[in-house]
Amino acid sequence: MNNGDNNNSLELTRELVKSGARSAEQIASEYLGRINASGDNCFISVLDAMAQARDIDDKARSGFDGKLLGAVVAIKDNMRYIGSVTTCGSAILTDKDTEDCEVVKRLKAAGAVIVGKTNMDEFAMGSSNATSAYGNVLNPLDRTRVPGGSSGGSAAAVASGLCMAALGSDTGGSIRQPASYCGVVGLKPTLGSIDGSGMYALSQDMDQIGPITKTVDENRLMFEVLSGKAMEKAEVKGLTVGLVREFEHWYTEDTKRVIQRAKEVLSSIGCRFVEVSLPSADAAFATYRALGNTQSANNLRNIGTAQERTDKLGIEVKKRILIGEYVLAHPEIAERAKRVKNKIISEFAKAFNLCDIIVSPSAPSVAFKFTDDRNNKEIVYSDIFTQPPSIAGLPALSVPCVKGESGLPIGVQLVGKKNAENVLFEIGKLFE
Ligand code: GLN
Repeated sequence: MNNGDNNNSLELTRELVKSGARSAEQIASEYLGRINASGDNCFISVLDAMAQARDIDDKARSGFDGKLLGAVVAIKDNMRYIGSVTTCGSAILTDKDTEDCEVVKRLKAAGAVIVGKTNMDEFAMGSSNATSAYGNVLNPLDRTRVPGGSSGGSAAAVASGLCMAALGSDTGGSIRQPASYCGVVGLKPTLGSIDGSGMYALSQDMDQIGPITKTVDENRLMFEVLSGKAMEKAEVKGLTVGLVREFEHWYTEDTKRVIQRAKEVLSSIGCRFVEVSLPSADAAFATYRALGNTQSANNLRNIGTAQERTDKLGIEVKKRILIGEYVLAHPEIAERAKRVKNKIISEFAKAFNLCDIIVSPSAPSVAFKFTDDRNNKEIVYSDIFTQPPSIAGLPALSVPCVKGESGLPIGVQLVGKKNAENVLFEIGKLFE
């Protein structure tokens, strides 16, 4: 759909459907046509979108309205939708859902058409979508490259206009990193601010559902609907912006440009930059794995039989179950990881005594090629900037910021204090 001057296709759609200028059915059928024609493998399944759209049109004629009236939205395939099989990108899950998850209920109540369920790394474990049992997703900006992960199908679907907005889930970077790779906007909200009931857990202490959209305005609207919170306007002129000293040794030519651009954009509204320190940031990866993988190992015990798990789970999932079982057998490791987690939380608290937001690249590189060396440190550590805020439960927004040398996008990650999403949205708009 052509947005004209309005950079909020969701609002525009609502107006069109409300006025009767277009029907939800017409709009949904256009998107379904594009999904069917796409060869990028963004979707694992397509839903009863035409029936949903007709229902919305009927209701709209008798006065129903909602913030997402007629909007075409996709959900990651770890979120339950009644009558569909939620696969989590795995061959092991084959039963149909008997209930909608909470976010689906909210999207439906707001008048959205839920068009389909997007491809993902198996059980949300991965950074490339390559661990999906349903095959790779291609990055629409360069089809020799990965879309990122684990919400790669959602980010790629938004980037190529197969839906207006999509939901992802982010435990250590799975919304922000694919958003960065696909050149779209992704929010990992404050932990707990959107109800995740009815979603399959990777690591329930860190999992957070959030929206992926083309623009910041659309992202804000989606967040309002999903969280039920109204975003108050934030004053962002003259804020103090923190740059993390310990992130610097990860910077490359490409990511240095993110910091440079952030300085240009934010200085122009009178922001001041200060250095902040997260001494435990480099331990975030190990902490994330130790705490996350134990929860994953426990969760996966309840899925299928032992034989089915042997036959049907992919290698990445099995690897993490092994790590998780190892940590469960050595409780001192988990104890240590919990101590590091608390240190990370208090280091962020100290940093936020010195600044209002923290800025970093969203990922250490642009989207990598399917053929790239999987032991490459930038690939292994592709969540290096996103994991620390996840461990601390803080909100973080990725907005497209610069093009790397290859011409592909890299996002800027804006990390805020708890529940300061409104500040992130306000700052994020400056990068558009
Ligand atoms: N890429 C990270 C991982 O593989 C993040 C996953 C996520 O956030 N779901 O664990």
